[in-house]
Amino acid sequence: MTEKSNTLYMVIPCYNEEEVLYETAKQLKVKYEQLIGSGLISSESRIVFVNDGSRDKTWQIISELHNAEPRFFSGINLARNSGHQNAVLAGLMTVKDICDMAISMDADLQDDINAIDAMVEKYLEGNQVVYGVRSARKTDTFFKKFTAEGFYKFMKIMGADVVYNHADFRLMSSRVLCELAEYKEVNLFLRGLVPLIGFQSCNVYYERHERFAGESKYPLKKMLSFAINGITSFSTKPLKLITAMGFIMSVISVLAMLWTIVVKFMGKSELGWSSTVCSIWFIGGLQLLALGIIGEYVGKIYAEVKHRPRYIVADFINNSESENISEEK
Ligand code: UDP
Ligand code: MG
Repeated sequence: MTEKSNTLYMVIPCYNEEEVLYETAKQLKVKYEQLIGSGLISSESRIVFVNDGSRDKTWQIISELHNAEPRFFSGINLARNSGHQNAVLAGLMTVKDICDMAISMDADLQDDINAIDAMVEKYLEGNQVVYGVRSARKTDTFFKKFTAEGFYKFMKIMGADVVYNHADFRLMSSRVLCELAEYKEVNLFLRGLVPLIGFQSCNVYYERHERFAGESKYPLKKMLSFAINGITSFSTKPLKLITAMGFIMSVISVLAMLWTIVVKFMGKSELGWSSTVCSIWFIGGLQLLALGIIGEYVGKIYAEVKHRPRYIVADFINNSESENISEEK
Protein backbone atom coordinates (compact mmCIF):
# COMPACT_ATOMS: atom_id res chain seq x y z
CA MET A 1 0.00 0.00 0.00
CA THR A 2 1.65 3.21 -1.08
CA GLU A 3 -0.90 5.98 -0.74
CA LYS A 4 -2.84 6.31 2.52
CA SER A 5 -6.45 5.58 1.67
CA ASN A 6 -8.93 5.66 4.46
CA THR A 7 -11.76 3.23 4.06
CA LEU A 8 -12.71 2.05 7.54
CA TYR A 9 -14.68 -1.13 8.17
CA MET A 10 -15.97 -1.71 11.68
CA VAL A 11 -16.37 -5.37 12.62
CA ILE A 12 -18.93 -6.02 15.35
CA PRO A 13 -19.51 -9.60 16.56
CA CYS A 14 -23.09 -10.14 17.71
CA TYR A 15 -24.44 -13.08 19.64
CA ASN A 16 -28.04 -12.69 20.77
CA GLU A 17 -27.74 -8.91 20.78
CA GLU A 18 -31.23 -7.90 19.62
CA GLU A 19 -31.61 -5.61 22.61
CA VAL A 20 -28.61 -3.46 21.81
CA LEU A 21 -28.30 -3.59 18.02
CA TYR A 22 -30.55 -0.65 17.11
CA GLU A 23 -28.86 1.60 19.63
CA THR A 24 -25.35 0.50 18.59
CA ALA A 25 -26.24 1.05 14.93
CA LYS A 26 -27.70 4.48 15.69
CA GLN A 27 -24.65 5.67 17.61
CA LEU A 28 -22.20 4.25 15.09
CA LYS A 29 -24.05 5.88 12.22
CA VAL A 30 -23.80 9.28 13.89
CA LYS A 31 -20.09 8.67 14.41
CA TYR A 32 -19.63 7.62 10.78
CA GLU A 33 -21.46 10.65 9.45
CA GLN A 34 -19.17 12.84 11.52
CA LEU A 35 -16.00 10.98 10.45
CA ILE A 36 -16.96 10.97 6.77
CA GLY A 37 -17.99 14.63 7.00
CA SER A 38 -14.63 15.64 8.39
CA GLY A 39 -12.87 13.61 5.70
CA LEU A 40 -11.11 11.36 8.20
CA ILE A 41 -12.59 8.23 6.58
CA SER A 42 -13.93 7.64 3.07
CA SER A 43 -17.60 7.35 2.18
CA GLU A 44 -16.92 3.73 1.19
CA SER A 45 -16.52 2.92 4.89
CA ARG A 46 -18.98 0.45 6.39
CA ILE A 47 -20.18 -0.96 9.69
CA VAL A 48 -20.23 -4.76 9.48
CA PHE A 49 -22.25 -6.75 11.99
CA VAL A 50 -21.22 -10.39 12.28
CA ASN A 51 -24.07 -12.60 13.41
CA ASP A 52 -22.47 -15.41 15.37
CA GLY A 53 -25.30 -17.95 15.12
CA SER A 54 -27.70 -16.00 17.34
CA ARG A 55 -30.95 -17.61 18.35
CA ASP A 56 -32.87 -14.36 18.58
CA LYS A 57 -33.71 -11.74 15.94
CA THR A 58 -30.13 -10.49 15.56
CA TRP A 59 -29.71 -11.46 11.89
CA GLN A 60 -33.17 -10.15 11.04
CA ILE A 61 -32.22 -6.77 12.52
CA ILE A 62 -28.87 -6.74 10.69
CA SER A 63 -30.59 -7.44 7.34
CA GLU A 64 -33.12 -4.74 8.11
CA LEU A 65 -30.38 -2.22 8.88
CA HIS A 66 -28.56 -3.13 5.68
CA ASN A 67 -31.69 -2.82 3.54
CA ALA A 68 -32.60 0.51 5.07
CA GLU A 69 -29.12 2.02 4.87
CA PRO A 70 -26.70 0.03 2.73
CA ARG A 71 -24.37 3.06 2.71
CA PHE A 72 -23.58 2.41 6.34
CA PHE A 73 -24.48 -1.13 7.31
CA SER A 74 -23.31 -4.50 6.07
CA GLY A 75 -23.77 -7.94 7.54
CA ILE A 76 -22.06 -11.30 7.77
CA ASN A 77 -24.06 -14.33 8.79
CA LEU A 78 -22.09 -17.24 10.18
CA ALA A 79 -23.46 -20.72 9.63
CA ARG A 80 -23.49 -21.38 13.38
CA ASN A 81 -22.18 -20.05 16.69
CA SER A 82 -18.39 -20.09 16.49
CA GLY A 83 -17.48 -18.02 19.55
CA HIS A 84 -16.45 -14.41 19.97
CA GLN A 85 -12.85 -14.75 18.72
CA ASN A 86 -13.86 -16.64 15.61
CA ALA A 87 -16.67 -14.21 14.88
CA VAL A 88 -14.22 -11.31 15.04
CA LEU A 89 -11.79 -13.17 12.79
CA ALA A 90 -14.55 -14.05 10.31
CA GLY A 91 -15.43 -10.37 10.04
CA LEU A 92 -11.83 -9.22 9.70
CA MET A 93 -10.95 -11.82 7.07
CA THR A 94 -14.06 -11.06 5.05
CA VAL A 95 -13.31 -7.34 4.85
CA LYS A 96 -9.50 -7.41 4.69
CA ASP A 97 -9.33 -6.90 0.93
CA ILE A 98 -11.98 -4.21 0.67
CA CYS A 99 -10.85 -1.91 3.47
CA ASP A 100 -7.73 0.05 4.37
CA MET A 101 -8.25 -0.39 8.09
CA ALA A 102 -10.66 -2.33 10.27
CA ILE A 103 -11.70 -1.79 13.87
CA SER A 104 -13.13 -4.65 15.90
CA MET A 105 -15.52 -3.69 18.66
CA ASP A 106 -18.13 -5.42 20.85
CA ALA A 107 -21.79 -4.88 20.11
CA ASP A 108 -22.77 -3.83 23.61
CA LEU A 109 -21.36 -0.26 23.55
CA GLN A 110 -18.96 -1.02 26.40
CA ASP A 111 -16.11 0.23 24.27
CA ASP A 112 -16.11 3.97 23.78
CA ILE A 113 -17.21 4.92 20.28
CA ASN A 114 -15.51 8.29 20.70
CA ALA A 115 -12.12 6.57 20.79
CA ILE A 116 -12.55 5.72 17.10
CA ASP A 117 -11.46 9.22 16.03
CA ALA A 118 -8.18 8.91 17.87
CA MET A 119 -7.63 5.41 16.52
CA VAL A 120 -8.09 6.52 12.92
CA GLU A 121 -5.81 9.51 13.49
CA LYS A 122 -3.10 7.24 14.89
CA TYR A 123 -3.48 5.02 11.82
CA LEU A 124 -3.14 7.99 9.51
CA GLU A 125 0.01 8.96 11.40
CA GLY A 126 1.50 5.65 10.33
CA ASN A 127 0.55 3.09 12.97
CA GLN A 128 -0.53 -0.27 11.61
CA VAL A 129 -2.10 -1.48 14.86
CA VAL A 130 -3.87 0.72 17.42
CA TYR A 131 -4.88 -0.94 20.70
CA GLY A 132 -7.86 0.36 22.62
CA VAL A 133 -6.83 0.24 26.28
CA ARG A 134 -9.19 0.72 29.22
CA SER A 135 -8.02 3.53 31.43
CA ALA A 136 -10.55 2.86 34.17
CA ARG A 137 -12.99 0.19 35.22
CA LYS A 138 -15.35 2.36 37.23
CA THR A 139 -18.47 0.67 35.90
CA ASP A 140 -17.30 -2.92 36.35
CA THR A 141 -18.37 -4.78 39.45
CA PHE A 142 -15.61 -5.49 41.96
CA PHE A 143 -15.69 -9.14 40.95
CA LYS A 144 -15.38 -8.44 37.21
CA LYS A 145 -12.58 -5.94 37.81
CA PHE A 146 -10.73 -8.31 40.11
CA THR A 147 -11.03 -11.34 37.81
CA ALA A 148 -10.30 -9.37 34.64
CA GLU A 149 -7.22 -7.59 36.01
CA GLY A 150 -6.05 -10.82 37.62
CA PHE A 151 -6.41 -12.39 34.19
CA TYR A 152 -3.95 -9.97 32.55
CA LYS A 153 -1.45 -10.35 35.37
CA PHE A 154 -1.70 -14.13 35.40
CA MET A 155 -1.31 -14.25 31.62
CA LYS A 156 1.90 -12.29 31.91
CA ILE A 157 3.29 -14.52 34.67
CA MET A 158 2.42 -17.56 32.58
CA GLY A 159 4.38 -16.22 29.65
CA ALA A 160 1.63 -15.04 27.28
CA ASP A 161 2.42 -11.42 26.56
CA VAL A 162 -0.77 -9.43 26.15
CA VAL A 163 -1.38 -5.68 26.21
CA TYR A 164 -2.57 -4.87 29.74
CA ASN A 165 -6.27 -4.00 29.92
CA HIS A 166 -6.73 -4.30 26.18
CA ALA A 167 -9.54 -6.55 24.99
CA ASP A 168 -10.62 -6.79 21.38
CA PHE A 169 -11.22 -3.12 20.64
CA ARG A 170 -8.44 -2.45 18.15
CA LEU A 171 -7.65 -1.04 14.76
CA MET A 172 -5.62 -3.01 12.26
CA SER A 173 -4.49 -1.97 8.81
CA SER A 174 -5.32 -4.18 5.84
CA ARG A 175 -1.60 -4.96 5.66
CA VAL A 176 -1.68 -6.43 9.18
CA LEU A 177 -4.92 -8.27 8.38
CA CYS A 178 -3.23 -9.97 5.43
CA GLU A 179 -0.47 -11.15 7.77
CA LEU A 180 -3.05 -12.26 10.34
CA ALA A 181 -4.58 -14.47 7.65
CA GLU A 182 -1.36 -16.48 7.68
CA TYR A 183 -1.88 -17.51 11.31
CA LYS A 184 -3.95 -20.63 10.81
CA GLU A 185 -4.33 -21.76 14.40
CA VAL A 186 -7.67 -23.16 15.45
CA ASN A 187 -7.21 -22.17 19.11
CA LEU A 188 -7.63 -18.53 18.41
CA PHE A 189 -6.59 -15.89 20.94
CA LEU A 190 -6.40 -12.61 19.06
CA ARG A 191 -5.02 -10.48 21.90
CA GLY A 192 -1.97 -12.69 22.06
CA LEU A 193 -1.66 -13.06 18.31
CA VAL A 194 -1.78 -9.46 17.15
CA PRO A 195 1.27 -8.28 19.15
CA LEU A 196 3.18 -11.22 17.60
CA ILE A 197 2.58 -9.87 14.11
CA GLY A 198 4.58 -6.76 14.94
CA PHE A 199 4.55 -3.50 12.93
CA GLN A 200 4.34 -0.03 14.39
CA SER A 201 1.62 0.14 17.03
CA CYS A 202 0.33 2.40 19.78
CA ASN A 203 -2.37 2.62 22.43
CA VAL A 204 -5.46 4.77 22.67
CA TYR A 205 -6.99 5.05 26.15
CA TYR A 206 -10.71 5.07 26.85
CA GLU A 207 -13.12 4.53 29.69
CA ARG A 208 -15.15 1.37 29.52
CA HIS A 209 -18.90 1.82 29.89
CA GLU A 210 -21.53 -0.44 31.27
CA ARG A 211 -23.21 -2.89 28.91
CA PHE A 212 -26.01 -0.95 27.21
CA ALA A 213 -28.54 -3.78 27.53
CA GLY A 214 -28.69 -7.55 27.73
CA GLU A 215 -26.40 -9.85 29.65
CA SER A 216 -22.71 -10.60 29.40
CA LYS A 217 -22.01 -13.60 27.20
CA TYR A 218 -18.87 -14.24 29.22
CA PRO A 219 -19.85 -15.86 32.50
CA LEU A 220 -17.05 -16.91 34.86
CA LYS A 221 -16.87 -20.40 33.37
CA LYS A 222 -16.31 -19.04 29.86
CA MET A 223 -13.80 -16.50 31.17
CA LEU A 224 -11.81 -19.24 32.88
CA SER A 225 -11.71 -21.37 29.76
CA PHE A 226 -10.74 -18.26 27.77
CA ALA A 227 -7.82 -17.68 30.15
CA ILE A 228 -6.71 -21.32 30.01
CA ASN A 229 -6.95 -21.24 26.23
CA GLY A 230 -4.93 -18.02 26.09
CA ILE A 231 -2.17 -19.40 28.27
CA THR A 232 -1.91 -22.82 26.67
CA SER A 233 -2.05 -21.35 23.17
CA PHE A 234 0.79 -18.96 23.80
CA SER A 235 3.10 -20.42 26.33
CA THR A 236 4.64 -23.71 27.37
CA LYS A 237 5.53 -22.28 30.76
CA PRO A 238 3.02 -24.55 32.59
CA LEU A 239 4.87 -27.57 31.17
CA LYS A 240 8.14 -26.17 32.46
CA LEU A 241 6.52 -25.59 35.84
CA ILE A 242 5.59 -29.28 35.94
CA THR A 243 9.19 -30.22 35.31
CA ALA A 244 10.33 -27.86 38.05
CA MET A 245 7.72 -29.27 40.41
CA GLY A 246 8.83 -32.81 39.60
CA PHE A 247 12.40 -31.86 40.34
CA ILE A 248 11.54 -30.28 43.68
CA MET A 249 9.44 -33.30 44.64
CA SER A 250 12.35 -35.64 43.84
CA VAL A 251 14.67 -33.65 46.08
CA ILE A 252 12.10 -33.71 48.88
CA SER A 253 11.61 -37.46 48.49
CA VAL A 254 15.35 -38.10 48.79
CA LEU A 255 15.37 -36.07 52.01
CA ALA A 256 12.33 -37.97 53.25
CA MET A 257 14.06 -41.25 52.47
CA LEU A 258 17.08 -40.22 54.52
CA TRP A 259 14.79 -39.18 57.34
CA THR A 260 13.01 -42.58 57.31
CA ILE A 261 16.32 -44.39 57.54
CA VAL A 262 17.44 -42.23 60.44
CA VAL A 263 14.13 -42.75 62.29
CA LYS A 264 14.32 -46.50 61.65
CA PHE A 265 17.78 -46.78 63.20
CA MET A 266 16.61 -44.74 66.15
CA GLY A 267 14.00 -47.44 66.71
CA LYS A 268 10.92 -45.23 66.34
CA SER A 269 9.66 -46.65 63.06
CA GLU A 270 6.00 -47.13 64.03
CA LEU A 271 5.66 -43.39 63.79
CA GLY A 272 4.96 -42.01 60.34
CA TRP A 273 1.37 -42.93 59.59
CA SER A 274 0.36 -39.29 59.02
CA SER A 275 3.40 -38.52 56.91
CA THR A 276 2.68 -41.55 54.68
CA VAL A 277 -0.98 -40.69 54.20
CA CYS A 278 -0.21 -37.03 53.56
CA SER A 279 2.41 -37.80 50.96
CA ILE A 280 0.11 -40.22 49.12
CA TRP A 281 -2.56 -37.56 48.80
CA PHE A 282 -0.12 -34.83 48.00
CA ILE A 283 1.79 -36.73 45.32
CA GLY A 284 -1.47 -38.12 43.89
CA GLY A 285 -2.93 -34.64 43.57
CA LEU A 286 0.23 -33.27 42.04
CA GLN A 287 0.34 -36.05 39.48
CA LEU A 288 -3.27 -35.51 38.49
CA LEU A 289 -2.66 -31.79 38.11
CA ALA A 290 0.39 -32.43 35.97
CA LEU A 291 -1.53 -34.89 33.81
CA GLY A 292 -4.35 -32.39 33.45
CA ILE A 293 -1.99 -29.66 32.26
CA ILE A 294 -0.31 -31.99 29.78
CA GLY A 295 -3.78 -33.13 28.66
CA GLU A 296 -4.69 -29.52 28.01
CA TYR A 297 -1.83 -29.30 25.53
CA VAL A 298 -2.59 -32.66 23.97
CA GLY A 299 -6.17 -31.47 23.45
CA LYS A 300 -4.83 -28.38 21.71
CA ILE A 301 -2.68 -30.49 19.41
CA TYR A 302 -5.73 -32.66 18.65
CA ALA A 303 -7.77 -29.63 17.61
CA GLU A 304 -4.91 -28.16 15.56
CA VAL A 305 -4.22 -31.41 13.74
CA LYS A 306 -7.84 -31.76 12.62
CA HIS A 307 -7.60 -28.25 11.24
CA ARG A 308 -11.32 -27.75 10.91
CA PRO A 309 -12.64 -24.46 9.53
CA ARG A 310 -12.74 -21.87 12.29
CA TYR A 311 -15.94 -20.36 10.96
CA ILE A 312 -18.19 -20.66 7.97
CA VAL A 313 -19.62 -17.56 6.36
CA ALA A 314 -23.14 -18.28 5.14
CA ASP A 315 -23.95 -14.79 3.82
CA PHE A 316 -22.18 -11.51 3.32
CA ILE A 317 -24.41 -8.58 2.56
CA ASN A 318 -22.48 -5.55 1.47
CA ASN A 319 -23.53 -3.14 -1.21
CA SER A 320 -20.12 -2.16 -2.51
CA GLU A 321 -18.95 -5.67 -3.27
CA SER A 322 -20.58 -8.82 -4.62
CA GLU A 323 -23.58 -9.84 -2.56
CA ASN A 324 -24.31 -13.10 -0.80
CA ILE A 325 -21.04 -14.86 -1.30
CA SER A 326 -20.28 -18.01 0.59
CA GLU A 327 -16.84 -19.03 1.67
CA GLU A 328 -15.08 -21.31 4.07
CA LYS A 329 -12.03 -20.63 6.17
N1 UDP B 1 -20.08 -12.75 21.24
C1 UDP B 1 -20.06 -13.52 20.08
N2 UDP B 1 -20.13 -14.89 20.17
C2 UDP B 1 -20.20 -15.54 21.38
C3 UDP B 1 -20.19 -14.75 22.56
C4 UDP B 1 -20.12 -13.37 22.47
O1 UDP B 1 -19.98 -12.99 18.97
O2 UDP B 1 -20.27 -16.76 21.37
C5 UDP B 1 -20.00 -11.28 21.14
C6 UDP B 1 -21.06 -10.52 21.90
O3 UDP B 1 -22.23 -10.34 21.12
C7 UDP B 1 -20.37 -9.18 22.17
C8 UDP B 1 -18.92 -9.59 22.32
O4 UDP B 1 -18.80 -10.87 21.72
O5 UDP B 1 -20.48 -8.29 21.09
C9 UDP B 1 -18.43 -9.61 23.75
O6 UDP B 1 -19.31 -10.33 24.57
P1 UDP B 1 -19.82 -9.78 25.98
O7 UDP B 1 -20.10 -8.31 25.90
O8 UDP B 1 -20.95 -10.63 26.42
O9 UDP B 1 -18.55 -10.05 26.90
P2 UDP B 1 -18.02 -9.14 28.15
O10 UDP B 1 -17.91 -7.73 27.63
O11 UDP B 1 -19.03 -9.28 29.22
O12 UDP B 1 -16.69 -9.73 28.48
MG1 MG C 1 -19.35 -6.71 26.80
